[in-house]
Order: sequence, then C-alpha cells, then structure tokens
Amino acid sequence: MNLHEYQGKEILNSFGVKIQRGIVVNNYKKAVAAAKQLTAETGTGWHVIKAQVHAGGRGKGGGVKLAKSLTEVETFSKEIIGMMLVTPQTSKEGKKVNQVLICEDVYYPGEFEHEEFYMSVLLNRATGRNMIMYSTEGGMDIETVAEETPHLIFTEEIDPAIGILAFQTRKIAFNLGLSGNAFKEMTKFVSALYTAYIKSDASMFEINPVLKTSDAKIIAVDAKVSIDANALYRHKDYMAMRDFREENPIEVEASAVGLNYVDLDGNVGCMVNGAGLAMATMDLIKQSGGEPANFLDVGGTADAERVEAGFRIILKDAAVKAILVNIFGGIVRCDRVAQGIVDAYTNMGDAIKVPIIVRLQGTNAKEAKELIEKSGLDVISVTEFQEAADKVKEVLV
Ligand code: GDP
Ligand code: MN
Repeated sequence: MNLHEYQGKEILNSFGVKIQRGIVVNNYKKAVAAAKQLTAETGTGWHVIKAQVHAGGRGKGGGVKLAKSLTEVETFSKEIIGMMLVTPQTSKEGKKVNQVLICEDVYYPGEFEHEEFYMSVLLNRATGRNMIMYSTEGGMDIETVAEETPHLIFTEEIDPAIGILAFQTRKIAFNLGLSGNAFKEMTKFVSALYTAYIKSDASMFEINPVLKTSDAKIIAVDAKVSIDANALYRHKDYMAMRDFREENPIEVEASAVGLNYVDLDGNVGCMVNGAGLAMATMDLIKQSGGEPANFLDVGGTADAERVEAGFRIILKDAAVKAILVNIFGGIVRCDRVAQGIVDAYTNMGDAIKVPIIVRLQGTNAKEAKELIEKSGLDVISVTEFQEAADKVKEVLV
C-alpha cells in the first residue's frame, strides 16, 4: 500500500527520524492558517507548498512551489489544489491534487552549503537481506544517476536477524562525505530510518532528498513509503491511511469482491483460475497478436457468482474487444464452471457485447464443452490452449 508524503513523514517522525515539518490541508484558507502556525512553531519565514499525490517527480510538474509570503502561500495553494498534476511518473492526463502539504522552508542560508542526498531502504530479494541504497546525488532523477553514473550509488546490506550495526551507519555517513556534527546526525538518521522500516512492516522507503541543512542537521524532505499490504492487520492506524482516490477504481472494486485484478493497457480481457495460468494466458494472448487488458485470477471457486463478478469487472474497461476465459478444472469441475459461465451470461443479458472464448480443460472438460454448445449463447468453446489463441486472433481481425 502506497502512502502520501505527509503520511510517510508522520510514520518516520513517530520513530524519531527527523523530518521537514508540515501541515496537510485541502483549501487555501487552511493553507494560510497552516503557514502562520508553522512560522510560530519553527520560525520559518518561507513555506513550501507540496502537492500530495501518489507519484514522484512533482517538483518537475509544478507540484512543489516555494512561497516567500503569505500571499504566495494563498496563490500557490489555490493553483495546486484541484489541479491535474502531470509528472514523469503519471499518465498524460495527470493526477488530481486533493491536498497540499504546507512545509517549513528548510533550504535557508547559513554557515554551510546545504547538500541533497538520496536514500532508500528495501528488500534485496536475491540475498534475502534488507539494503540501504544511498547516494550523494540526491534531489534529482535517481534513475538517471543509476543509468549514467551507477558508481555514485552505494549499497549497504543488513542482516535482518542482526539488524543495523554502528559501523554500517558510520560507513554510510563517511561515504556521503560528511564530518563533524552532520556525520553524527547522519548515523542517528540512518539507524532511526532502518528501525522505522522494520517496525512499520514497510516494503520500501525512499527519501529523496535527505537534506543536510546549512546548520548541519540531517532531515527527510520527501518520503515515499510503501507498507506491505500483508502486514496491515498489525497496523490498524496505517490501514486508515489508505487513499482510495489514488487507486485504479476498477481494481478497488475488484478487491472489494475478493478478485485479484490488475488493470493493463490491452484489448483482450482474461479470466483465469490461478496466478500461474493467468500469466501463461497473458503470454498466449500476446503471441496471438492481442494485448492483455488485465490480469484476473478468480481463484479456486469459479462459480456463477464469481464468474459474473469477473465479467462485470472486465467489461468496465472500454478497451476490451474480446474475453478469454481459461480455466483448469482440477478440484473445481469444468462442467460446474461452464454452468457458471452460462448462468452469468444469461443473467447479464445485453451487458456482454464482445465475443467470449472459453477454454475449459481438466475434470469433465467434455461435458463442459457440450453444456456451453447446447446453451445457444454466443460463446466459443474450445479445449486446447492453442485453439483458444487461434480463436482470439480470429475475433480480433
Ligand atoms: P518530488 O519532486 O516529488 O520528488 O518532491 P520533493 O519533495 O523531493 O521536492 C522537490 C524539490 O523541491 C526538492 O528536491 C527541493 O529542491 C525542493 N524543496 C523541497 N523542500 C524545499 C524547501 O523547504 N525549500 C526550498 N527552497 N526548496 C525545497
Ligand atoms: Mn523527491
């Protein structure tokens, strides 16, 4: 589950990670009040207005603005709240901004030059260890750094059974070129960040930039946080942070009825039982010249109700030109599934306007094929994988 910057920062703060302070608001009046409050609490003169959407690169898209007066706080908040923010990480339509984070300005002048670092914590699946990736080249496109100057990104692996050790936090601070108070601050920052990552059951933290302020403090200016959805039952407070407005509405609806659905860009809808078979089916669709419109695993119980729910979800995507149902009858009998398809189809009447190709294989496949053929519905029934692919090709032309 992805979180907004302000929510990520809240979690970091709760584990003692220093952050750029901010107040989230949804209109310009509250924005001005928030700015006044921040000035009273932190002494900040300027403020940063930051769009809260689930996408990075907001700065590049005009979603992060420095306000040098309360009038500018008002102007920029009016401008950003409600806008469709387009960044390198959104679609070309962009994302609607519902809220902005009003932040203290942390790039104030002082004794030292400020410096922007990159830091992320995530799991290295190959080694089964956590890792901290970090770089002196923060603030800009880390993807470009990774591509053009990969030697500027360091990795520190941490054994999850042991946890982060003091020498590792010092090594990171050293590699970032820090000394004196900033060095000490960085070791504390890294250790708190790692603890936060573990205790919050996160799957990823990305802090870009981590800022060394002009008075040698180390703080998180941005926070991209993902919490492992399978661990959310342990964190009721994080569960409440889920912002459905940021998610694909079809996917939200599918998850509400317990279907494992992922929206894709293609034209052939698919309904399959089992994730492995679903992947193979998507490959098959590609081979036959189509593009999968979705990934949909209906799971073990492909009864009429679930099949109908599946059809309805798939058909919400206007790009779908055909539906391929590919079910392997192991424990679930094919004739049961076939009956489910017939019932669902009959129930839905005119709602289905695209050809449906059904491939049922396994227990009682023959009976299933007969059942579908006898139903007189506009459903193409096949038993072989390749036949299914050929039919998809046929109906697409
Ligand atoms: P992103 O573009 O979505 O990654 O958003 P960030 O939170 O990383 O902000 C983008 C950029 O805004 C940062 O790299 C900074 O250069 C700038 N920025 C953020 N906070 C401040 C601030 O307090 N003062 C100033 N002057 N610039 C800031
Ligand atoms: Mn950033």
